[in-house]
Amino acid sequence: MSTTSSLFKQPTSDILAQMQAYEHEQILYFNDKETGLKGIIAVHDTTLGPALGGCRIWNYANETEALWDVLRLSRGMTYKSSINGINLGGGKSIIINSDKNLRTEKFWTRFGEFVESLNGKYITAEDVGTSTKEIAYIMQKTKHVSGKPIEMGGAGDPSPFTAFGVYLGMKAATKFATGSDSLNGKKILIQGVGHVGQYLIDHLVKENAIITIADINATNIEAITQKHNVTVVDPQSIFDVDTDIYAPCALGATVNSDSIPKLKCEIIAGAANNQLADELIHGQMLKDRGIHYAPDFLINGGGVINCYKEVKGLTDNETNALVEKIYEKTYQVLERARNENSTPQETAIIIAKERIEQAKNKG
Ligand code: NAD
Repeated sequence: MSTTSSLFKQPTSDILAQMQAYEHEQILYFNDKETGLKGIIAVHDTTLGPALGGCRIWNYANETEALWDVLRLSRGMTYKSSINGINLGGGKSIIINSDKNLRTEKFWTRFGEFVESLNGKYITAEDVGTSTKEIAYIMQKTKHVSGKPIEMGGAGDPSPFTAFGVYLGMKAATKFATGSDSLNGKKILIQGVGHVGQYLIDHLVKENAIITIADINATNIEAITQKHNVTVVDPQSIFDVDTDIYAPCALGATVNSDSIPKLKCEIIAGAANNQLADELIHGQMLKDRGIHYAPDFLINGGGVINCYKEVKGLTDNETNALVEKIYEKTYQVLERARNENSTPQETAIIIAKERIEQAKNKG
């Protein structure tokens, strides 16, 4: 397998070269004249199992940007499942769409047919822009769907599991940094108090953490301030906040060349995918600044573990046991990164790849 240093630094239309660099198995481009549906399904690696990952519908500026997104997201899913010890591969789908009027039942059932055409190699789920409503339409044409609501026979909202894993990863990073995993009195800044952020705060208040939040959605802020004693800051000034822990729970790429010099935290541990704008450059910049980074795809794996529960029919106990392992794994990644003079992100990718290589060697 290639190292992360061979990755492309920016979007390009060179499809096969990118597939080689990111190590993708297959890409399906789809187009439906009748409904206006168009997009891409990326199957990154199916060594450990079928490629699972959500369907994102977004107003991409162009196809190159859409391809870049689906390649990076599907690769992240492979590593997320592998490092979390579950037998799923990594995949993702994107739909390029700016006109919400096109998003009819027929539009989604056609998408279900394209998922079905891969015969179970790809399992879709919810992501940005897709909800239980769209999942119900997709399910009319394919059974290769996960993250379904409980009333449809699924495992329900993954967010509480994701939040619990992030909480455990945060505690493990705190133990690594300070010698104790107590969050009592720790200052924690949470960017984004949506599904995951809200559940995360429920865990943190039980430990008497001092919580600061920022969100662009006033309703979500109100839901938190009515329930808990937190400080609210302007989303534009989060990097002015003096904090022990920064928890990105909104968007990717908030840890970048602009933000890293301003960061006033000792630890980064949050739910967002692809928090490092560039995993090599910004992983190293954090290391140089002495900031401990809990790799996102490890600690936000509770959601995919919940999907795995649905796919494999695991019990609640089996599912919780998998999520609880995030604590130990996070500590091990930070320790190994220090011992090998590497960054936690690179170390976590190496560990994820090692498991895939072992599975390949075993045939
Ligand atoms: P969500 O959409 O429910 O919540 C995101 C919150 O971030 C919203 O309240 C939104 O208003 C806020 N936000 C958006 N832009 C912002 C900005 N610039 N500044 C501050 N706040 C901003 O999403 P979620 O399900 O809570 O997921 C949060 C993150 O975790 C996402 O990046 C998601 O991809 C990732 N994630 C979620 C899960 C899960 O189980 N839901 C699993 C793995 C990863």
